[in-house]
Formats: sequence, C-alpha cells, structure tokens
Amino acid sequence: MNQPIYFDNNATTAVSPSVFEAMVPYLTEHYGNASSAYRSGRVARAAVERAREQVADLLGCEPREVVFTGCATESDNAAISSALHTTGHRHVIVSAVEHSAIKNHAEHLERLGYGVTFLPVAGDGTLTVQQVAAALRPDTAIVSVMWANNETGVLFPVAEIGELCRARGVLFHTDAVQVVGKLPVNLAGLQVDFLSLSGHKFHAPKGVGALYVRRRAKFVPYLIGGHQEKGKRGGTENVPHLVGLGQAAVEAKRHLAAEAAAVLRLRDKLEHTVLEKIPDTFVNGHRQRRTPNTSSLAFAGLEAEALLLLLDQHNVSASAGSACTTGAVEISHVLKAMGVPPDRAVGTLRFSLSARNTEAEVDYVLGILPPLIAKLRAEKTGAVALKAKLAAGEKIV
Ligand SMILES: *Cc1c(COP(=O)(O)O)cnc(C)c1O
Repeated sequence: MNQPIYFDNNATTAVSPSVFEAMVPYLTEHYGNASSAYRSGRVARAAVERAREQVADLLGCEPREVVFTGCATESDNAAISSALHTTGHRHVIVSAVEHSAIKNHAEHLERLGYGVTFLPVAGDGTLTVQQVAAALRPDTAIVSVMWANNETGVLFPVAEIGELCRARGVLFHTDAVQVVGKLPVNLAGLQVDFLSLSGHKFHAPKGVGALYVRRRAKFVPYLIGGHQEKGKRGGTENVPHLVGLGQAAVEAKRHLAAEAAAVLRLRDKLEHTVLEKIPDTFVNGHRQRRTPNTSSLAFAGLEAEALLLLLDQHNVSASAGSACTTGAVEISHVLKAMGVPPDRAVGTLRFSLSARNTEAEVDYVLGILPPLIAKLRAEKTGAVALKAKLAAGEKIV
C-alpha cells in the first residue's frame, strides 16, 4: 500500500476537511479579538459562542458550563487545582492508570505534601465504585478517574462513581478525552462536576480543549489573566481553533452511532483474526467494557517497538505499550498496574482505529502482521538493533 495506514487515533486524529474549512475564515478574514466591541470582534465572539453551543450539544450540558482551554492537559490540571483551592482539602483520589496529564500532576502534588491515593486496577484494567468508596476520606478534595483508558480503551463506571461522590459531597472529575466523539455522552444524566475533552482526539486540531464545569460547582481559574470565559480562563480566545472544535462536535454528534458501529466491526475483525492466526497473542483489558476503536494486543516473545519499526516500513502507524531506551525496556504504567507479565507488556502494540479506516486497510495489516511477527520471534531482533540496521541503510521488511 502506498497510502499510509493510520491506526494510532488515540494519539491524535486527522483534522476533518469540514473542520478545516470552517476554520479558514477565522484565520484570514475574521481575525478580530473576540473581546473587542467592533464588527470583526463581534463576528469572532458570535463564532466562539456558537462553538460553545455545539460542544454543549455534544455533551448534553448547557453552553455556559463549557469552558474552553488550550488542551485537555490544561483541563485536567485545572479541575484538580480548582478543587484543592475551593475545598481547602488536601487529599486527591486518582486511578493508577491515568494519562500523564493527571498522573504526573498527582505525583507533583504528592511531592508538594498533598495526600494522593492511586487506586489500583484489576488484571483486566477495570476499577469498581467500591474501591473509590473505600478510598474516600473526610479531607478528600476531588476524585478524578478517566472515563476510558487511552492505552487499552477500558471504561470506568463513571455514572456510579459520580453518584457515590455526589452522595458523599465530594467533587468528581473525569478525563473523557477517549470517550468524547466515540461514545454518547449525556451530562444531563450524570453526576459529574468536571469533564475534560481534547479537540485533536476527535478530528479538530491540536491545541484546543474544553473543561465542563457544572453550573453550581465552585471553580477558580487555572490560567489567571483577563476576564475571558466569564473569568474562568484567562487568555485571548483561540477563535479559529474553537470554531474547529465546534464543527468537530457537530460532526461527532451527527455520525457517532453509525461510526462507532463501523469502527467496532473493523476493530473486532482485526483483533479476532490476529488472535486466530498468530499464536501466543493476548488482548490487554476487558474485552467488552472498552471503547469500540481500541485494541491493545500483546505478542509474547518480541519487542513491540521493533514491530512498530517494521510496520512503519510498510507505512503502517500504531503505537507500543513500552519504550526501549538503549537496552532497557520501560513498561507503560498502565500495563504495569494491570499486572501484565513483562514479556507480554514488552510485546504490546496498540491499534486505535477511526471511522476513516477501511476494511482494505485492516486486511492489508492482517496480511503483513503474521510474517513480520514470525520473523521477529525467530531472529529475536530487538528495537535497538533494528534501529541501527535501518540507520545503516539496510533494507529489512
Ligand atoms: C491525549 C489525552 C490527553 C491529553 O490531551 P491534550 O489535548 O493533548 O493535552 C489527556 N487524557 C487522555 C486520556 C488522552 O488520551
């Protein structure tokens, strides 16, 4: 195949053509500051407020509950930081498998002297509401657990956790980056105080996100500056990107059900065939409680990073569950928390699909995977050695 095959949609997605088209006028003609009162400012303001309505419509909340941010990392940081300020409490509960936007912030807070509980997960990557209940303390400021895991797609029971937190008077945040645009979200029926999303994970550009802040939840800004976002987030509005985010939300809402079903069919074909054709292969994570696009596959007896390099030679993009740095292999904290045996963790490859992928692409990958895997297993070629060979100009496919 000459066309690149992109199976790394949990890392980022392609900007949709209609999103790009919607943005262009705000990069060229309507460059006014959305806070300015003259005509081009008013045009920009109207566009920002329309985007807010579009995102609110996707989430099932009120437009005034949507605070635009620069990325989901900012949204995640802002939610936890605000909860610590508004409650004055010094304990935070997160899961052991959060994205680094939560994990590294939580570890930073721990170093600053805050109490942090990292909830363990089961072997299939799941977490129960009882675990959260048992970890609550009188000084807990906030519970923050992701809705879906970016490495495995495993879903956490956010509806139940939200009910628990509301009943116990504790703030609840969920990082929903891997759910928004993939599965329906209806905040009207959820006891969630804060929810993070990122544009570039559902076909808007990078560098734009949002934080849902429930209307009655106390909130202090993370970026302190001007009065933008009704005082909830300083910084001149990134009008073109917000327009893109709004358009991506419209498209996600319109096509979500059909796309989720189509992606699920492709993912399952890929996964089932791999398991059937390639020995010593395992799925990481709960087989049902998962986002429809994600497959975390462990190929025992090889280095996934080496497999990635070979796949890249065939113009196929995926991602590895571990990183090889000069001989030593760093296993992802997610696979480690699940207790995935080292041999499987080192051999873990994540395929994350989108509705743009085709059956022909899946078939192509299914065709090349078995011989590549057999070769790596037989020759015991590691990623470091393979990189050296490629750098020397050797052709290895
Ligand atoms: C990508 C991702 C983020 C970070 O989003 P950015 O907008 O790139 O900062 C946070 N959480 C999860 C689960 C993600 O997949």
